[in-house]
Parts: sequence; structure tokens; C-alpha cells
Amino acid sequence: MNNNILGLHHITAIAADAQRNYDFYTKVMGLRLVKKTVNFDDPGTYHFYFGDEHGTPGTILTFFPWENISKGQAGTGMATEIAYSVPQGSIEFWKERFKKYNVPYTEVSERFGEKILSFTDPDGLQLTMVEPSKVDTRTGWTTAEVNKDVATKGFHSTTLMLRSIEPTAKILTDIFGYELQSQEGNRYRFATNAVEQANLIDLLEAPDGPRGYNAGGTNHHVAFRVADDNIQMEFRDKILRKGLQITPKIDRDYFYSLYFREPGGVLFEIATDNPGFTVDEPLEQLGTSLRLPKQYEPAREEIEKVLPVLH
Ligand code: ZN
Repeated sequence: MNNNILGLHHITAIAADAQRNYDFYTKVMGLRLVKKTVNFDDPGTYHFYFGDEHGTPGTILTFFPWENISKGQAGTGMATEIAYSVPQGSIEFWKERFKKYNVPYTEVSERFGEKILSFTDPDGLQLTMVEPSKVDTRTGWTTAEVNKDVATKGFHSTTLMLRSIEPTAKILTDIFGYELQSQEGNRYRFATNAVEQANLIDLLEAPDGPRGYNAGGTNHHVAFRVADDNIQMEFRDKILRKGLQITPKIDRDYFYSLYFREPGGVLFEIATDNPGFTVDEPLEQLGTSLRLPKQYEPAREEIEKVLPVLH
């Protein structure tokens, strides 16, 4: 059993319109909705999970669509960019697709020798497509319009903007087993070799950057992956020994979670592979019906009345 941090597990952000969010990620991006549930702390709001066929850790982007929430501000103490790995030669396809669907994007450029295309979702969340220099063997979810030659394969990396990178870098290196791999200007790339993919975190040092404000179109937290909840509790001890506060283990039905705020201000989570998304519906039917945690099942009728109807 691998007792390391296994790269990214999922990333969670805030949207302002459930239908618009659902349409963008399933149709334009061509991801699979692997789970449609509610925010366990606020059951009148959806919690969407978008990923590959299985909702494999390292592919899962999740949203709380709070209807009409005001727009947030990406900035320091926050993940400010989410990068997807896409097949070699597919960036032109995505550029054309963004043109077609009026998705704002910036011109194709290079970062650490890899071709990138940055764009924003309908809430202004910053995303990037990356053609990695190392072959990504993961299989992306495909749709009628997004075939396997162009489909996203899961996360490439995420960028955290920080006033000073040092305290966050220490969490990554001393607790999570990452190492500084390369640097380009104020961008420092950390990698773990515990896994092949979704194993990169970029720290962007911005001493005068705007402070992040969490609302629509911004990141809520970044979850790191561990194999199971025994290993998770070992990390809990390590974090406590560093003098940081961390929550007890929380059952999220599809994984177990621990949350802590790293010293740079970003909300980190440690999430497990077990039990996974097929715990309450079969693989073929993932995301097709509203799943509720058992404490809310008796209130299903009222909850369904409050949630916006998706078309
Ligand atoms: Zn989470």
C-alpha cells in the first residue's frame, strides 16, 4: 500500500448558476457528471462532480453552484488556476471550440516547455489546457463532440497564488513529499514522484497580489489524494505535529475528508480513494440521478423542490 500523498484528488470551486455550470463542463468541456448530490453542509445547494468515466481521483472538479452568488476575486491565499492535461496536438481543437462557444481564451503560449491554452469558465474561473511533454496514459471521457484524440485526461496541475511561497512550499516538501522541480520567473513547480499524473503544484509568488476573496468563479479548496483513511490519519498526525489545526475525519460518502488551512491561506483537504463514486449507484449510471446522504434522504421531497431543475 502506497502511504504517500498521491497527487491531487479533487478541486472544488464556486459557481453562480447550476444549469450554466452543468452545461459548460459536460457539453463544452466534455466531462462526465459522475455525481449529482447536495452540499452536505447546505443541502439546498447542489454539489456537482465532473471527471472521467469512474471519477478517478486526479480528474475530479467539483462545484457548489450557489444561485446568484456575487463574483469572487482570485488572488493570494487561493488556487488561481486549474490545469487539465490534453493529448498532444489537441490545443488547436480546443481553441476552435472556445471560439465557437464564445469561451474567453488567451493566445497559445508555453510554460516549462509545454504548450498551454488558458481560458475561463462562465463564472470567470481560470482554467488551462496543457499538452504535457511526458505522455499522459490516462483515458479521458468522450462525448459525441469531444473524442479520445482531444478529450481532457484529468488534472495536469493547479496553481496557488501566495504572498510568499516559503510556508506553503514547506508543507508540500516536508509533509506531502513534493520536491521543487523547476522555476520560471515567480512560478515554482513542485512535483511528487508518488504518482505519474496530477502530481504537480505550481506556487506563484505575488507579494503585492490582490487578496483572494472566495465567491463565484473562484476556487474553494484543493484536495490531495491518499489511498485510504488509515494513511489519511497518519497525515493528520503529521499536520498536528507541525502545530497546524485540522478537522477530524469527515465522511463525505464517496471519500473521507480532512481539512486544514495551510499557512499561505489556501484551504487544503486530504481525501481518500475509498469508497469511491460507485458506492451508491452503478458505474453506467453515475451522475444520472440526485444522490443524497442518508441524513437528508427523509427530506428528499423538500430538497428537490428547492434545487433548480436541470435540463
Ligand atoms: Zn473537497
